[in-house]
Amino acid sequence: MVDRDKQSGLGADEETMATSGLSRRAALGLGAAAFGMAAAGRSSAQVGSSGPLAVASANGMRGVKLAVELMASGTDPLDAAIEGVAIQERDPKDRSVGLGGLPNADGVVQLDASCMHGPTRRAGAVGALEGIVNASRVAKAVLEHTDHIYLMGEGAKRFATDLGFKEEDLLTPESRRSWLRWKGRLNPNDAWLEFDQEHLESTHGTINMCAMDQQRNIGSVTTTSGLSWKIPGRVGDSPMIGAGQYCDNSVGAAGSTGRGEANIKVCGAFLTVEAMRNGASPEEACLATLRRVVEMTEDRLLEGGKPLFGLNFYAIDKQGRYGSAALYEPTAERKARSDVAGKFAVADGKGARLEDMAFLYSVQQRPAAMG
Ligand code: ASP
Repeated sequence: MVDRDKQSGLGADEETMATSGLSRRAALGLGAAAFGMAAAGRSSAQVGSSGPLAVASANGMRGVKLAVELMASGTDPLDAAIEGVAIQERDPKDRSVGLGGLPNADGVVQLDASCMHGPTRRAGAVGALEGIVNASRVAKAVLEHTDHIYLMGEGAKRFATDLGFKEEDLLTPESRRSWLRWKGRLNPNDAWLEFDQEHLESTHGTINMCAMDQQRNIGSVTTTSGLSWKIPGRVGDSPMIGAGQYCDNSVGAAGSTGRGEANIKVCGAFLTVEAMRNGASPEEACLATLRRVVEMTEDRLLEGGKPLFGLNFYAIDKQGRYGSAALYEPTAERKARSDVAGKFAVADGKGARLEDMAFLYSVQQRPAAMG
């Protein structure tokens, strides 16, 4: 989990990773009570900006910059956001998405993506898509060229290749090695010898981006290789409209990274947009959704009432305000390891930058099992 964060600032928040393998790795989660805590020094906008605005998970630094530049020269906000996330989809060093994304238990990279276009109120999504780098562009093609919203698996792939998307092997030598490393450590009694002593990469990661242009039209997209080593066919929250991302042109947009199974149960992106509709700021809305996630978490995933996993939300509203929140404040150790821990990416008239996320639970509230 360390490695990915170090790679060119990529890899969404490491905290996000955890939980799959709860018993195997106590990598996740934390804390206890105090809802609604926020990081000191955070500067998430409570006053809206009027020019183009893009907000993303921390691995979207290059993407938000590009998206804002594109919108400034007239590109549609969804197209701009998709161009932004395509940088990570094409980058083999980002192990959370597209080329080089970590594979499923069979060593096959299966991608999930979804998008929404505010002005036309259209949506598109693909799940368990194999062999196509830019899952977000295929999701956009579903939105654009079909009367459907969600294509899965083999059908999604055939749809993409019919449209001219190129089929490629998404498993890089590095991600194959990570998969073999995982396989070799699965069961001490099987016939696999431990592949090497290298650290096993984290199992989560995604990129979400929400974008708004000068006319205050909004688009949102989320794209991911999902939980690594997942059961083949597993689809996470990212391609689910209302969970992985959601956009309502009259209110705002929201998206998520982190444990998809927890987000799906609360329809987190939709819930966040609804909180903004009811008057919450983007940051307050993200925190409110995280509270709901805690309420909906099964006992087996709680310690002292706190989830043993990471989950993050990102949001923008029609006034040009933005915010983001994570379940847990990053530990000092994580911050020392990664300069993107607890951060999200923003670009607007003031340029592109990382800002601190709010958090629901402080380091002191972190469950011991989270490490
Ligand atoms: N949300 C993604 C999923 O569950 C993974 C992640 O963002 O870490 O597939």
